[in-house]
Amino acid sequence: MNEFVETLLELKWHEPKSSYDVVIIGGGGHGLATAYYLATRYGITDIAVVEANYIGSGNSGRNTTIIRANYGIPESVRFYRHSLELYETLEEETGCWIMHSTKGLLWLAHTETAMRSERARCLLNTACGAETVMVTASEAKALCPQLDLSGGGRYPVVGASHHVGAASARHDRVVWAYAQGAMREGVHVLQNTRVNGLLREGDRITGVQTANGPISAGIVLSAVGGNVTTIANYADVRLPVRTHPLQAFVTNGYAQGLDKIVGDTELLCYVSQTARGQMLIGAEFDRQPSYSKQSTFDFLQTCSSKIGHVLPFLKNLRILRQWTGICDISADFSPIMGPTGADGLLVTTGWGTWGFKAIPAGGALMAELIATGKTPDMLKPFSLDRFASDHPLADQGSTGTR
Ligand SMILES: Cc1cc2nc3c(=O)[nH]c(=O)nc-3n(C[C@H](O)[C@H](O)[C@H](O)COP(=O)(O)OP(=O)(O)OC[C@H]3O[C@@H](n4cnc5c(N)ncnc54)[C@H](O)[C@@H]3O)c2cc1C
Repeated sequence: MNEFVETLLELKWHEPKSSYDVVIIGGGGHGLATAYYLATRYGITDIAVVEANYIGSGNSGRNTTIIRANYGIPESVRFYRHSLELYETLEEETGCWIMHSTKGLLWLAHTETAMRSERARCLLNTACGAETVMVTASEAKALCPQLDLSGGGRYPVVGASHHVGAASARHDRVVWAYAQGAMREGVHVLQNTRVNGLLREGDRITGVQTANGPISAGIVLSAVGGNVTTIANYADVRLPVRTHPLQAFVTNGYAQGLDKIVGDTELLCYVSQTARGQMLIGAEFDRQPSYSKQSTFDFLQTCSSKIGHVLPFLKNLRILRQWTGICDISADFSPIMGPTGADGLLVTTGWGTWGFKAIPAGGALMAELIATGKTPDMLKPFSLDRFASDHPLADQGSTGTR
């Protein structure tokens, strides 16, 4: 049993003040991690994290928990590798058991074109310090004996890339670990407090308007997941972001155990096993932009049929639960972090369907930016102005299997 199992959470709640040095909108992983690193690394503790519902009620408590760094462009590989490393020491640092487990991730390829993409990914990952290697179909089968290499007779597996350091962690425990760490340093977390406007003095954003009254702030950071365009609109900022629903589901327990995370680069679906033994399955985001959290039978049917071709044992399991989150998808499928052009307002967004893995690095680097006023080198490529200067970070191929 893990040494952290018995530790109880200590969350200290406070009455809101009328003013803070930093106000962070959104008590998901990114908002809370930024508050945690501001407090623990830079001694900035006069912070309020303002959350419309309860902490982790957004995507940070709805995701499929996959942590990996096998991206397709150098800037992203370096960023996510940094996050992967911070995850590895997060239990030790916070004293919270986040159920972190390194499993390795197989990305299956069915065509020579997909094999070429995966070979290129392996070379790039290796050059940027993330361990990803090509494996033959039979080596993939040795790593994951449940695979049907014939792909149900329709999608034969030609080979795969194996991202050795891929991991998973319990999503809401990550949120709670950062919340507890931040609260211990004196950060105020205000639940059930929706931000419904921004305070302005001239061109500067000077705070937030909430359902419970105004709160002024030296700096405002928006970390609201799929709701970012609403907040940006309050400051007359237009972001290249659209909101799309993303669905997932779990089955009943599978006693034999699936050790690897398995994704399919062409069927665009993926599966891993939770600590409880359930199979956690997801696919691409819904094509139609929407704020709807309605789950659909169509998704269940398509996704379970696709994944069943390569892992036929799944066909014998029962679906227990299905849910949906709303995701902030940027035009180039990469995150946007930093200034917005509105003085006093920063943003961490574009986390789309892949931002759980980024919580530690996103939080640490946003904290550095707020504390020092300087954009850390690792963050620079992810600034909003990359769109105006025609330097997008297009990497859609790395986002499909979370
Ligand atoms: C089904 C699904 C599967 C996923 N799987 C993975 C995965 O395996 N790996 C991975 O890396 N990523 C995955 N993701 C993506 C990941 O969950 C998100 O990118 C990440 O959680 C975003 O964190 P966040 O803190 O930016 O946003 P959120 O966790 O959504 O937090 C934003 C918070 O802001 C609050 N809020 C919104 N509007 C306001 C307002 N006006 N005032 C105050 N508060 C407000 C919300 O209530 C919410 O709590 C998945 C997402 C989904 C939906």
